[in-house]
Amino acid sequence: MSIQFVAGKLKGEERKAIIQGVQRQLQEAVLGAIKPLLTEFCEAELTVKLGRGKREPRRVGGQAREIEWQCGHCGCRDANHFTRDGHYRRALETGWGHIEGLQVPMVECQCCGHDVVCTYTILEKHRRFWLDLAQQVLIGSGLCQSLRHLSEQWSAVLGSSVGLRTINERINQIAPLRKLARSESITDVPAVVQFDGIWLRVQTQTETVKLDKRGRKRKKRKGKKVVLLVALGLWTDGSGKREILDWQVADGESKAAWEPFVHRLWERGLRPEAGLQAVIRDGCGE
Ligand SMILES: [Zn+2]
Ligand SMILES: [Zn+2]
Repeated sequence: MSIQFVAGKLKGEERKAIIQGVQRQLQEAVLGAIKPLLTEFCEAELTVKLGRGKREPRRVGGQAREIEWQCGHCGCRDANHFTRDGHYRRALETGWGHIEGLQVPMVECQCCGHDVVCTYTILEKHRRFWLDLAQQVLIGSGLCQSLRHLSEQWSAVLGSSVGLRTINERINQIAPLRKLARSESITDVPAVVQFDGIWLRVQTQTETVKLDKRGRKRKKRKGKKVVLLVALGLWTDGSGKREILDWQVADGESKAAWEPFVHRLWERGLRPEAGLQAVIRDGCGE
């Protein structure tokens, strides 16, 4: 069995569609990773508001602990009359996309048995938090770095660092972007695979702080050129099916950059004995 190698390059429109496809995959993975993290943020804020952790009993009969959250029914504001009461699920629009089924902790007022209206900082102020997290930043630099920045802002707004350690530990556990992308074995092997390197200019934040036009402190941004290595699967069974099999961000298109990428696909099952017949790659690759 032999594989046929053909030289070819993806055209403008096709490349644009591929970049969008990669961004979609990345976005899905990112949203999946941050969903439980957002619940964690809410739990930590709830601990701050109630002045006690999940399994700590509430102080009955002592001094009142007035907070800004209020029972929607009787108007009670005493956190010592409030108890945790499970979760509800909601959708959330974020700067990173739509999140479905986010678990948000609920609080019950023990004076009347109704719900306390909870306004969580991470959910209410998320637009401000996430505004400058463009998709390209996600491709260009670490997701974890962005999330750590988010948790710093969150704890500053809250004026408390309760739960910050747990949250940062969670963030550190989030797999690097590469791992968030696809790694399962390829069972439906296409007849043709097309490799292409798509050069992108991404914006990254530097640690240098400068003042913007309105005198606000902003981290200086700088542009960086990276290449998106893409493997596009093409099915020749008449279905016209095409799919991004894998992708990777690299600094260049050298053999050293391509080799592990191609090897990974091989490991995932993209082999001639499974049905692969031809490989298309652009002219500049060795
Ligand atoms: Zn009440
Ligand atoms: Zn009360």
